[in-house]
Amino acid sequence: METGVLMRYGFDGPRQGRWKVRELENAWSARTGAAYTHCCSSGTAAVWAALICAGVGAGDEVILPPFTFVADVEAVLYAGAIPVFADIDATLTLDPAAVEAAITPRTKAVLLVHMCGSMGRVDLLAALCQRHGILLIEDVAQAAGGSYQGRALGRFGALGCFSFDYVKTLTCGEGGAIITDDERLYRLVDAFCDHGHDHLGKDRGADLHPVLGLNFRLSELHAAVGLAQLGKLDLMLARQRRARDLLMAALAGLPGLTFREIPDPAGDTATFLSFFLPTEDLARAASRALPAAGLDGCFYWYDNNWHYLRKWDHFRALASPSRLPQATLPETPAFTRQALPASDALMSRTLSLLLKLSWSEETILARGATLRRVLAELLA
Ligand SMILES: *Cc1c(COP(=O)(O)O)cnc(C)c1O
Repeated sequence: METGVLMRYGFDGPRQGRWKVRELENAWSARTGAAYTHCCSSGTAAVWAALICAGVGAGDEVILPPFTFVADVEAVLYAGAIPVFADIDATLTLDPAAVEAAITPRTKAVLLVHMCGSMGRVDLLAALCQRHGILLIEDVAQAAGGSYQGRALGRFGALGCFSFDYVKTLTCGEGGAIITDDERLYRLVDAFCDHGHDHLGKDRGADLHPVLGLNFRLSELHAAVGLAQLGKLDLMLARQRRARDLLMAALAGLPGLTFREIPDPAGDTATFLSFFLPTEDLARAASRALPAAGLDGCFYWYDNNWHYLRKWDHFRALASPSRLPQATLPETPAFTRQALPASDALMSRTLSLLLKLSWSEETILARGATLRRVLAELLA
């Protein structure tokens, strides 16, 4: 604030050695173990830039889960590619067998979304992609700080994308990041997010512009917030995991209730506790009964219109102010007629409880008792 330099590039003299975005990038590389981090303006920008810089373009197919956030579908469509939805399994993200069945000669990438704090089957999906010569890109927007067998999520694919928006575990207010071990991809992402500047000149005016870009820069102000947040990440994860453990213990042994499958519980960021009830009717009943009993933060995603495919008619209609290349294809893209019965069967029975940092141990125990009472009544 004192230097007046709020932009991440240039103004080398006035900034007096302060490079907040660079500092956050280095810290995020250190945290994740990635060779490179590029911070950008949002998670949406991160996914879009990752797809474009990985070479996903017009006519390519990208396999992704139907339980995700609209940003992933938007990014695929605005890259000119066709989203192909593959069923999810009890991890609440991509089922490797369904991904394999969805591969066609046009498949360019698999976009794995680690939903609600926990991971997909990253090892199996990475091996599958390698076997088929397809790129794996990870959307880690909802699982920053998560890992699988000690390796940070986002490091199993060619590129890992993060969101630091206001509702994510680690927030900059708005912001995002892309990690990779591939220097060529990093250089491309770094240039793409800043009008194609290669950032190799002795000053900004001396940069070359090897590629067409746009502006998805993160500001110094946002990065300063992110750095402060990053210092609290382990504390936040520990609190979320404690809340998860206490609530899981409270629900243990309820007949018919099963928890979401978590490939490596130690790497779960525990932003949510997700579980399945035996039927859609029971899940719907619980989604009404829990708030009525005073439990807020209960999500029934099946009816949600920005996290589950079922309510996304604007994608199917390609209702865009831009003339998307997909709209000019002679055949209707496959995603407009995709039925996903296995995903419906899971999502219609899924409930997720938000785990809040501000809860005291006492609050969590009280919530656990209410949760058990209400669900036990329904399941009796
Ligand atoms: C939040 C989110 C994004 C987009 O991030 P923004 O920073 O809000 O643009 C992308 N994917 C998933 C899974 C998200 O939850």
